[in-house]
Amino acid sequence: MTSRTGREQLHDSISNYEAGDLPVARISDCICDCGSEVFSLGFDDDRGVAVRLCFACDSEVALLDSQEVLDHADSDIDLDAAECTCGGIDFTVAVGFAISGNDVRWVSVGLRCEDCAIAGVYTDWAIGYSPSMHLLERI
Ligand SMILES: [Zn+2]
Ligand SMILES: [Zn+2]
Repeated sequence: MTSRTGREQLHDSISNYEAGDLPVARISDCICDCGSEVFSLGFDDDRGVAVRLCFACDSEVALLDSQEVLDHADSDIDLDAAECTCGGIDFTVAVGFAISGNDVRWVSVGLRCEDCAIAGVYTDWAIGYSPSMHLLERI
C-alpha cells in the first residue's frame, strides 16, 4: 500500500511536469479491479500508448485512448517497459489531464517507483479530438 505522501509526491510530479505546457486540471490514480495499486507499464512515447499490467493479478488495461491506437496500427507495436533509474519496474501509476472547455487536451502518465520512491512522467500525448471527456474514466 502506497502512503498518502507517496501519492502526493506522484501527483506533484505530474502537476509540475505540465505536459504540453498546459496546467494539469485533474489527476486520477490507477487502481486495478483486484484492488492492487502496483503495476508495470508498457508504453510507446511516439504513438501515445500506455498499458498497465497489474502486479497482483496480471490483468492488463490500455490507458486512455491507447486501445484505439493499438487497434488501428498498421503493424504490431512493440511497447517499451518502463524502468526506473534504479532498475525497478513496479510502480504506482496516476494519469494527469489538461482540460480546456469541455475537452481533454493533453494527458500524462506518471509513475512512482515502489523500490526507490522516485516519481516522474514517463509518457504524455496530445488529445486532438472531441468529445474526449470519456478519457477521464479510461484509467
Ligand atoms: Zn489486479
Ligand atoms: Zn526506482
